Amino acid sequence: MLTNDQLGKWDRENFFHPSTHLGQFARGEAAQRVVTGGEGVHITDRDGNRLLDGFAGLYCVNVGYGRQEIAEAIAAQARELAYYHAYAGHGSEASITLSKMVMDRAPDHMARVYFGLGGSDANETNIKLIWYYNNILGRPQKKKIISRWRGYHGSGLMTGSLTGLELFHRKFDLPLEQVIHTEAPYYFRRPDAAMSEAQFTAHCVAELEALIAREGADTIAAFIGEPVLGTGGIVPPPAGYWPAIQEVLDRHDILLVADEVVTGFGRLGTMFGSDHYGMRPDLITSAKGLTSAYAPLSASIVSQRMWDVLARGTDENGVLGHGWTYSAHPIGAAAGIANLKLIDELGLVENAGTTGRYLQDQMQAALGDHPNVGEVRGEGMLCAVELVADRDSRRFFEASEGKGAKVVAAMLERGVIARAMPQGDILGFAPPLCLTREEADTIVSVTRDAVAAVLG
Ligand code: PLP
Repeated sequence: MLTNDQLGKWDRENFFHPSTHLGQFARGEAAQRVVTGGEGVHITDRDGNRLLDGFAGLYCVNVGYGRQEIAEAIAAQARELAYYHAYAGHGSEASITLSKMVMDRAPDHMARVYFGLGGSDANETNIKLIWYYNNILGRPQKKKIISRWRGYHGSGLMTGSLTGLELFHRKFDLPLEQVIHTEAPYYFRRPDAAMSEAQFTAHCVAELEALIAREGADTIAAFIGEPVLGTGGIVPPPAGYWPAIQEVLDRHDILLVADEVVTGFGRLGTMFGSDHYGMRPDLITSAKGLTSAYAPLSASIVSQRMWDVLARGTDENGVLGHGWTYSAHPIGAAAGIANLKLIDELGLVENAGTTGRYLQDQMQAALGDHPNVGEVRGEGMLCAVELVADRDSRRFFEASEGKGAKVVAAMLERGVIARAMPQGDILGFAPPLCLTREEADTIVSVTRDAVAAVLG
């Protein structure tokens, strides 16, 4: 066992951490945490802290930490067959069984599931499939992808382009030219305070229509969106948004990708966010909740109408030239099976709806009247508290003041992990779906105390 000091030093000298201030970390100015264990909604670290994880890792440990059923399924799979590829019709009992379980849970009009490793590569797969689809249909010019400002779809070249957050573009020469962005469905930040929700939905639809008119519908292949904006601020859509968007897309023959990396497999209190909002996607992206992050695995779920064209494409052109070495990795698949069984057995989809609602209501009651809280919002087991300098004028804090990060740090001192969302002073909550009411109460009281400590 390494001593703590050795680990800390090796960490700062060797480990290139994702989404981290590299200079500060290397110099020892930014925090370091070595996580050693987890049980239920809590994690422990090497310094002996036990923290309530109000963000389920990166909204992914949906069944909670320490589930032995999943650990044992992974171990059994590793002993029996740790790896074989899935190319050219190969599979394992685990990957085939999981494909059946996923399709049994997906909306009826979906036909097949392609397994990758994480949300970013699943969205890369989706965009390639969309381009292939339009080439097979003989419309090679129909290739642009519309995404929303504040959407998060990964941090690869294409997926980082789809992501509509400045941090993921700056100095990376992104977005790529095939990607265009439209208005975020963010009612709290509507352009005119007097707008009703319905008027704001109409505004978002008009912006989309105008973009399509400017670019030409014959150049636009698809629209990608999270049912609830996640990393962009945990923002549920305004009333009527998805049906109205869907109508525009259908009229212009533009495919819809529902990025359900966060919402898939229960987080909104329904199996998929598409069910929740009546979306009819051509592709569903899923990752995190598919295995509750016990092993890396993602899913691109393909509609029947796309599948028919893809299959025709291979009749005309031969093998589909797309695949990863680790596609449908048996260990990920074994984790996925055990995870989906647990979600059913423990009733976690239902709990996400009921306890999630409770968390939001309690948060609203505790903080809704605070002069620096502009909005408490959420859906299912997703909740956000947006901080403002002045609630009447909806004036935001200067980003340089880092108020959101300060509140999150104050929460950490009190034993609860929340996430300071990357754009704006927004406290994000996405606890494991097994959260109890008592644990929700702890999150709320710690948030209230931390807000009071930082903002008065
Ligand atoms: N899509 C959404 C909606 C996400 O929230 C994320 C990650 O947070 C991704 C895609 C990217 O997934 P990954 O980090 O597994 O590549």
